[in-house]
Amino acid sequence: MFEKRENAPRQEPQKHTALSELGEFGLIDRLTRPVKLYHPETIKGIGDDAAVIDAGDHVILLSTDLLVEGIHFDLIYMPLKHLGYKAAVVNISDIAAMNGIPMQMTVSIAVSSRFPAEALDELYSGILLACEQYKVDLVGGDTSSSPKGLVISISITGTAQREEVVYRNGARPGDLLCVTGDLGSAYMGLLVLEREKKVFQVNPAMQPELTGYDYQIGRQLKPEARTDLRGLLQAAGIKATSMIDISDGLASEILHICKQSQVGCKLFEEKIPIDEQTRELALEYNIIPSVTALSGGEDYEILFTIGQTDYEKIKGIPGITIIGHMTAASTGKMMITPDGKEVELTAQGWDGMRK
Ligand code: ADP
Ligand code: MG
Repeated sequence: MFEKRENAPRQEPQKHTALSELGEFGLIDRLTRPVKLYHPETIKGIGDDAAVIDAGDHVILLSTDLLVEGIHFDLIYMPLKHLGYKAAVVNISDIAAMNGIPMQMTVSIAVSSRFPAEALDELYSGILLACEQYKVDLVGGDTSSSPKGLVISISITGTAQREEVVYRNGARPGDLLCVTGDLGSAYMGLLVLEREKKVFQVNPAMQPELTGYDYQIGRQLKPEARTDLRGLLQAAGIKATSMIDISDGLASEILHICKQSQVGCKLFEEKIPIDEQTRELALEYNIIPSVTALSGGEDYEILFTIGQTDYEKIKGIPGITIIGHMTAASTGKMMITPDGKEVELTAQGWDGMRK
């Protein structure tokens, strides 16, 4: 079908667009623009934390994530058991971000000959620990060799009632912008680990100086998924209007909600919940503390919006902070600094391909 033709018209030189020009989201947009859906059961395809599939009396949620050695993790400071746990948790988090219940996962690995079987035992002990913790059934996967390094791909299903599912696109002007837990610590944990890695590389006899930063390092190496939010909101009688998990940094995730919901926002910088020690550590590193939350990532907390009338209901729930509200799209996506200035909210999160 594709045989060469003698008199083929001379072709224009092939255009080469560097991936760095597009960035990760640009690339996804470009690749998925021609996608057509063939089944009415596909309620939501690309564009949210998970796809949503009609299964009769309920819906199935489906999401997948890929972790590549040297891009997403560094085995010098990431123990394999933690890596396995985290790989599972980041998927579980995507189901939590749809207000669903995680159910089944498949795990695929490509692994180079540098890894002994015992190393993969460790990896799996972490994956299985997360499965036990979050009651997820490991139901399949695939195994391959790789020329270099370790690649892990996990796919996950979840379930929910159709009307329970919360998308990125349901926020309305006036809605309250809320977040679980605290932000920025996973990023500071990464910086501490990177610093100690450098010390170790210069002098392998040096023992890493990690004590005192247990919380930050724990947030980086062993994040948890906020599957508990579903129950908290249910008990309070609140239906969130939009939801997303914080994998790339608060700013980037807020902008996703604004874009998909076609609204603007007012984020109050001083309301962003940041652990006190993380704040001090950031200052030690000459980083404005809020930047660790806005542009760091991997906290796996959940960002969500609720109707203004639910204020009384949300205010009593410990561990949830109201950080702003949504506005009409025309007023822009703004952050109010502690001294009252309005600045435009921009994302400088983990856009892997631009780095
Ligand atoms: P998340 O941060 O929640 O993992 P992503 O930002 O990775 O989500 O992806 C955004 C959306 O684009 C999701 O719906 C995801 O399934 C989809 N997506 C990402 N990469 C691809 C791809 N290569 N082909 C098709 N869809 C993709
Ligand atoms: Mg997500």
